[in-house]
Amino acid sequence: MKTAVLSAGHGGRDPGAVANGVQEKDVTLAICLKTRAILDCDYTGARLVLPRDNDRFVSLNARRDLTARVNADIYVSMHANWFGDPSVGGFESFLHDGPLYEVTEEYRDYIHDELLNPIRELSIHDRGKKFQNHDVTRMMPCPTILLEYAFISSPREAKLLSNPEVQTLLARHTAIGIASALKLEKKEAVKPGPYWVTAGTANSFDMITNILADLNRATPSVNPFISYAKKPPNPVFIVVADELERLDHAKALSANLKDRGFASQIITARPEMRINGGQSPSPPQPIIRPEVIRPVEIRIEEVPTNHEAWLLKDDEGRFGSFGRLHAILDELGYEVEGRGSYLNIRKRR
Ligand SMILES: [Zn+2]
Repeated sequence: MKTAVLSAGHGGRDPGAVANGVQEKDVTLAICLKTRAILDCDYTGARLVLPRDNDRFVSLNARRDLTARVNADIYVSMHANWFGDPSVGGFESFLHDGPLYEVTEEYRDYIHDELLNPIRELSIHDRGKKFQNHDVTRMMPCPTILLEYAFISSPREAKLLSNPEVQTLLARHTAIGIASALKLEKKEAVKPGPYWVTAGTANSFDMITNILADLNRATPSVNPFISYAKKPPNPVFIVVADELERLDHAKALSANLKDRGFASQIITARPEMRINGGQSPSPPQPIIRPEVIRPVEIRIEEVPTNHEAWLLKDDEGRFGSFGRLHAILDELGYEVEGRGSYLNIRKRR
């Protein structure tokens, strides 16, 4: 069970930003309540804690004490922005600019990236992922993400923020981002697999190779492949032990892997993590999928002289040196099928 603190900024005698007939405290409360409702309705495995669920003032110290008491896994601080120039607008997220919990950036990536869907749909500018010394992101005793959905000082964005349908849209994607970060199970997820049973995460090819080798020793029957939890330039790879249609099979494999010391989790892949990208507007991510050969035989450690080149894609999804990767794999005795982001790698017969 994971605990998420959904914190509507301001409240009561503290209205937050006020402009264009909109008060920040009302916008944040509306989005916060809708986020809770959507998480409650669609996902299992999370306890949702709200420092305020009505229009009252709650001090930052009280929010911190509550967060400590419930032993929270994540704190999402919801705000709307203000600037003196009404032409300024946009969405941005903040983390503390000092020491962070290990998962904080990963959590922020899930939420920020997910929110880019409605942000783009609403033609709100993405101001990016930022680091700053805010009281809330510094004080909370758990991974803390501060969201500034848009600018109340912008007449256009104030109108959007006070629109209940827009609030629901932002809340829905906030909820999806939180659920992805905490790996919450979707309630109807018993139906739509497939499920990815992970064997671990890695941020280097050496670590991937080690996990694959361990995996091969532990359970030679699995069918592993590699995907991203986080994109370059600071990639976090997931080693997926297998993709299974049935949740009970996935649970059994995951339990087996955990028994053998793997940090296994069951995840439902986000569309952009899927082979061929699914319906996602994001470009598909590079996946190395050993279809036939055993993973340890890929010997990825012999590629690293160039691995950065082919991990770094440009905006059009082209790899820096794709031909070079083909050449290296060819030298190592593998056939490579496919172009761009999805490779089939087979041992040459
Ligand atoms: Zn605020």
